[in-house]
Amino acid sequence: MKEFLCDFAAADLSAIVSPPYRAKQIFQWVYQRYATNFNEISTLPKELRAALNDRFTLEAVTIAAKQNSADGSVKYLFRLADNHAIEAVLLLMREEQIDEDENVAKQAQYTICVSTQVGCKIGCAFCMTAKGGFTRNLSAGEIVAQVLLIKRDRQMPPEKGLNVVYMGMGEPLDNLDNVAKAIAILSDESGLGISPRRQTLSTSGISPKIVALGKMKLGVLLAISLHAVDDRTRQTLMPINKAYNIESIIAAVKAFPIDLRKRVMFEYLMIKGVNDSIDCAKKLVKLLSGLRAKVNLIAFNPHEAAVFESPDRVAVESFQRFLLDRGLLCVVRKSRGLDIDAACGQLRERLGEQARAL
Ligand code: SAH
Ligand code: SF4
Repeated sequence: MKEFLCDFAAADLSAIVSPPYRAKQIFQWVYQRYATNFNEISTLPKELRAALNDRFTLEAVTIAAKQNSADGSVKYLFRLADNHAIEAVLLLMREEQIDEDENVAKQAQYTICVSTQVGCKIGCAFCMTAKGGFTRNLSAGEIVAQVLLIKRDRQMPPEKGLNVVYMGMGEPLDNLDNVAKAIAILSDESGLGISPRRQTLSTSGISPKIVALGKMKLGVLLAISLHAVDDRTRQTLMPINKAYNIESIIAAVKAFPIDLRKRVMFEYLMIKGVNDSIDCAKKLVKLLSGLRAKVNLIAFNPHEAAVFESPDRVAVESFQRFLLDRGLLCVVRKSRGLDIDAACGQLRERLGEQARAL
């Protein structure tokens, strides 16, 4: 079987093609000029194009379906070479920009939410992905390709800035090597050029892997799916909490290197009668005191496989107010793409705000 070109960093490629600067050319053509076939790369000698065609494919990931949402979000279903399917979502946000004349202009801003595994092992009680169990890790190229294919499908100008959030199907820290490689390939200036500061990795809280990620010094932003403030409640929602409790997660976050202008995002999925009380808000303030944190409140998104209910609007508002009044940054994640009939319940409520608002 042919190798997938997106699995290769430019440095790996330059050890294969000669002269090595050809690797950069290939990157530019694939990631910035959206070539889908090596024969299109007219600056390469014919023999090299033939050799590339023999060894590599550019089509290990293809778009199988798309669904548009009224708010401008688009959900993509991708097919992998072994026929498994994964999802990614393009989220459209309007960001206020102030120009030299102090006029406020709204600019379209994109965030792409990518998957890191086919399925997931962690088994959270509220999550649609968990229901199907775990199939396999995605390769670095399969992660990178989700961004490339969406950008190419929309024919976005190559210089168009994007945020990437690792919040689709799967637990990124369960596939750390491939995710780290994807972060690096995505950030390559001769390719997609998405700085690690514009990439946010979301985890269910595998504490030793958070520490390991920090030690890699990739510069990526971190989001923690906390969802509860005491171990007993968190355990019922997220079985991983039995292995790595809240205390261990907070300790790992404290050891994580973050840019002084940035914050660690704590995601808090509000479920009616489970974790939506003011008492929980009080504990949350205490838990996060002394951390450069920001809380993202998400109302539980019901799906047919779940026994939980969405919280009342007033509960969400009071929870947020409580945190803000005590100086803890907190946003309520707006529902985006809710009208998209998603197979994977969790992808629907994803607000790509993460990466830009930290
Ligand atoms: N496995 C990683 C990243 C993918 S899940 C993690 O858990 O962080 C991304 C986010 O979607 C998590 O915060 C998760 O808790 C949330 N999520 C899962 N199911 C959801 C649902 N039904 N409604 C709203 N958010 C959900
Ligand atoms: Fe896996 Fe995240 Fe879903 Fe939990 S919420 S089952 S960690 S994808």
